[in-house]
Amino acid sequence: MTPSTITKTLHLNGTPFKVHAISTGEVAVKSKFRETKLKGKLAPLSFIFGRSFTEWMPIWVWVIEHPEGLFVIDTGENSRINEPAYFAQCDGFTKWLNRTQFKFRVQRAEEIDQQLEAIGLSCTQVDQVVMTHMHIDHFDGLHHFPDSEILVHRLEWEKPYGDIPALYPSWLSPKLVDLNQNHPILGPIASLTSDDTLQIVHTPGHTYGHTAILLRTDEGTLCFAGDVVYHQGQLHQDKYSGGCIDFKAAAKTYERLRAFAKSESVVILPSHDGEAGERLEKLSFF
Ligand SMILES: [Zn+2]
Repeated sequence: MTPSTITKTLHLNGTPFKVHAISTGEVAVKSKFRETKLKGKLAPLSFIFGRSFTEWMPIWVWVIEHPEGLFVIDTGENSRINEPAYFAQCDGFTKWLNRTQFKFRVQRAEEIDQQLEAIGLSCTQVDQVVMTHMHIDHFDGLHHFPDSEILVHRLEWEKPYGDIPALYPSWLSPKLVDLNQNHPILGPIASLTSDDTLQIVHTPGHTYGHTAILLRTDEGTLCFAGDVVYHQGQLHQDKYSGGCIDFKAAAKTYERLRAFAKSESVVILPSHDGEAGERLEKLSFF
């Protein structure tokens, strides 16, 4: 089991606030799903026919006690994932993919609701849930947040890749976010708070509409990177996941993130990076 909550106190214009890293269980993927030399249409072949799996990786959910509200980034996985009938309403391909290419290890106590309670918070207090993208290990805790506003990038919702609507909560009707500003390095971006300290930015490649979330603090910028990469080293080494839908877009996203991290102090926090919790704790910049 991955170590659970890591809490870091940071500041926004001198005001202290907390950021929590919570791992909602663990996932392993086919090794070449995480990283392959093949690009384009051949890439899936490398992991489908590969036999080896990665080590167990965390499934991070990020919780921000921002002065403007309580924000949760992604919702993690839930403990029913390994029940035999979990994918019963899904199409055959989805069932096959999720049962053969990925492995999950999630206990009930690791789900986001109980872990929030453990740090004195509750799902009902969460104002907004911001989704980096709509893949199962990011959306499968959504049913804990019927009272929160769910934010999804419009393109991620309207042109999904690898989503599984059959498993969404029946009430899900997200607020679709349009990226109406332009960052000189990162491109399309939008602010989620009036003080511009929480922003959502387009980081395509893993999916068409994938987004990263930026938190601009006095100490530096946290970049909640979703599945742009599986670990920070992939950005340094220019290594790509076999699961990308658009490798050209992924390469552009890597370039932009590297340039951004040169222009200011940025902590890169991918959703499945085993070292991301420690990086947050130590504020290790890219
Ligand atoms: Zn994903």
